[in-house]
Amino acid sequence: RGLHKYSTAAAIDEPITPPVEVNYTKLLINGQFVDAASGKTFHTVDPRTGNVIADVAEGDAQDVNRAVAAARKAFDEGPWPKMTAYERSRVLLRFADLVEKHNDALAALETWDNGKPYEQSAKVEVPMFVRLFRYYAGWADKIHGLTVPADGPYHVQTLHEPIGVAGQIIPWNFPLLMFAWKVGPALACGNAVVLKTAEQTPLSALYVANLLHEAGLPPGVLNVISGFGPTAGAAICSHMDVDKLAFTGSTSTGKLVLELAAKSNLKPVTLELGGKSPVIVCEDADVDKAVETAHFALFFNQGQCCCSGSRTFVHERVYDEFVEKAKARAANRSVGDPFKQGIEQGPQIDPEQFNKILRYIKSGVETGATLETGGDRLGSKGYYIQPTVFSNVTDDMLIAQDEIFGPVQSILKYKSTEEVIRRANATSYGLAAGVFTQNLDTANTLARALRVGTVWINCYDTFDAAIPFGGYKMSGIGREKGVYSLRNYLQVKSVVTPLKNPAWL
Ligand code: NAD
Repeated sequence: RGLHKYSTAAAIDEPITPPVEVNYTKLLINGQFVDAASGKTFHTVDPRTGNVIADVAEGDAQDVNRAVAAARKAFDEGPWPKMTAYERSRVLLRFADLVEKHNDALAALETWDNGKPYEQSAKVEVPMFVRLFRYYAGWADKIHGLTVPADGPYHVQTLHEPIGVAGQIIPWNFPLLMFAWKVGPALACGNAVVLKTAEQTPLSALYVANLLHEAGLPPGVLNVISGFGPTAGAAICSHMDVDKLAFTGSTSTGKLVLELAAKSNLKPVTLELGGKSPVIVCEDADVDKAVETAHFALFFNQGQCCCSGSRTFVHERVYDEFVEKAKARAANRSVGDPFKQGIEQGPQIDPEQFNKILRYIKSGVETGATLETGGDRLGSKGYYIQPTVFSNVTDDMLIAQDEIFGPVQSILKYKSTEEVIRRANATSYGLAAGVFTQNLDTANTLARALRVGTVWINCYDTFDAAIPFGGYKMSGIGREKGVYSLRNYLQVKSVVTPLKNPAWL
C-alpha cells in the first residue's frame, strides 16, 4: 500500500514555481476592475502548499448591486442585445482566438489556483474552453423563432428573445469550463451576465474576462464578482433585477438557490448538482479497458467531478480480476506537483475537502469495506491524498451513498442485470453512468433503464461542446452545452397579427 510512482516527499514538498504572474485580482464591474465597496479582500491559496497566491477583492451585496445595475443598463440600453447576431458572434470568435494565444499562461493560472495537472489544463481544459466559445459563437446568428399555424385568419410568429440579466454561480472544480458552459450560451443569446466565481478559484475568470473586453465586449455585459456564497452568491440569487439564475455546485446549496429565487422574483433556475454515478462492468466487458476507463471515471480531476464514476459495480464473474487490476492501476497512479510532467493527480482543492475525504476513507474502513490501496494523505504539505480503492463495498455504506468528491474508488459486486439496474438507480442522484459490455442488447437495456442524464457506453467523460449535460432527480434541473443550453437563456414571445385577406387559413 501507498507505493505511488511520484510519492516521494521531494516530489510534493518542493513546489515548482508557476510560470505565470497574477495580474487581475479586483472585481470586474461595468468593464472596469474595481475594489470591493467594503475594501475587503480574501486569500486565494495554492493547494500544493496552503500558501497564499494572492489577495482578491471580496465582493458582497453592495458590489452585486453595482454589477446588476451595470448589467441591467447594458441589457436595457444596449448595444449588446441590439447588435446584429453576427456582430455578437464575431466578438465571441475573437475572444476564442485571444484565449488560444494565452493558452499556457491561463493553464498555469488554473493549475496554480486549483491544483489540477498542468497538462490537463493546457491540453484539455483551455482548448475545450476555446472550442466551447467557438461553438456558441456559431449559434449566435442561428437563433430564430417559428411561424405557427392558427385556427383562424392570423399570422403567428414566435420570437426567441434573450431573458435579460443572468446571474451565474460556478464551483471550483473546473473554473474555466464552468465559465464557458454558463457565459458562452448566455452571451450568444444576447443576455448580460453577473458571474460569481468560487472563493477557492477566482483567478482564471478575471484573466479571461479581461480578454473578452479586449475582443470587443461592451462594458457591463459581463461582470465578475469574486466572493463567498452566503454574501455575494445569495445577493445574486435574491436580486429583483436578476432575470435568470444558473448554478453549479452541491445539491444542498442548489436547494438554497432555488429557494432564494422563489422568495424574490421567481426567476427561472437551472441547476447542475451532485452525483453518485454508477459504472457497470458486465461479465462480457473487455476487463482491461473497463479497469482503465473506470479508473479515469473516478480519479480524473482528483476525483472532484460531479459526474465521477463513484460506484463501480462489477459482475461477479469478473469481479476478482477487476479488483486486482483496479488496485494495481491506482497504486501506479502518478501523484505529485501538478506542474511536473507526467503527473496524473495533484492536490485536493482545500483543507475542508481534504479532511472530508479522509473522514470518508475512515468510514469505509470502519464499516467493513476492504481497503485495497491508498487510504491516507500523501506528503506533509498541501492537500494530497493517496489514490484509494475499496472493494467489498455494500450499498448501505456511507462511501456508497454520499458524494465523496475525492480519489476514492468503491467497488461493488453484482449478479444480474435486473439487480444492477435496481441498485444503480437506488439513489436520489441521477447525473451520469458508464456501461462496459460488448453486447449491444445489454448496452441498450442499461442505457434506457438508468435514470441519469448521460450514459457513456464503453467510454466515460466524453464532453463535446454539442453534447448536452445535466441531471435527473436531485442532480439538477435543465441541460447545459449543446443546443439545449440555449433554452436556458431565451424566452419565447408569440406575436399574433390578424390577416385581412388570408389566402389560406
Ligand atoms: P458549494 O455548492 O457550496 O459551492 C458552489 C458555489 O456556490 C460557490 O461559488 C459558492 O460560493 C456558492 N455558494 C455557496 N453558498 C451559497 C449560497 N448560500 N448562495 C449562493 N451561492 C452559494 O460547494 P462547495 O462547498 O465548494 O463544495 C461542497 C460539495 O459540493 C463538494 O464536496 C461536492 O460534493 C459538491 N460540488 C459539486 C460540484 C459540481 O460540479 N456539481 C462542484 C463543486 C462542489
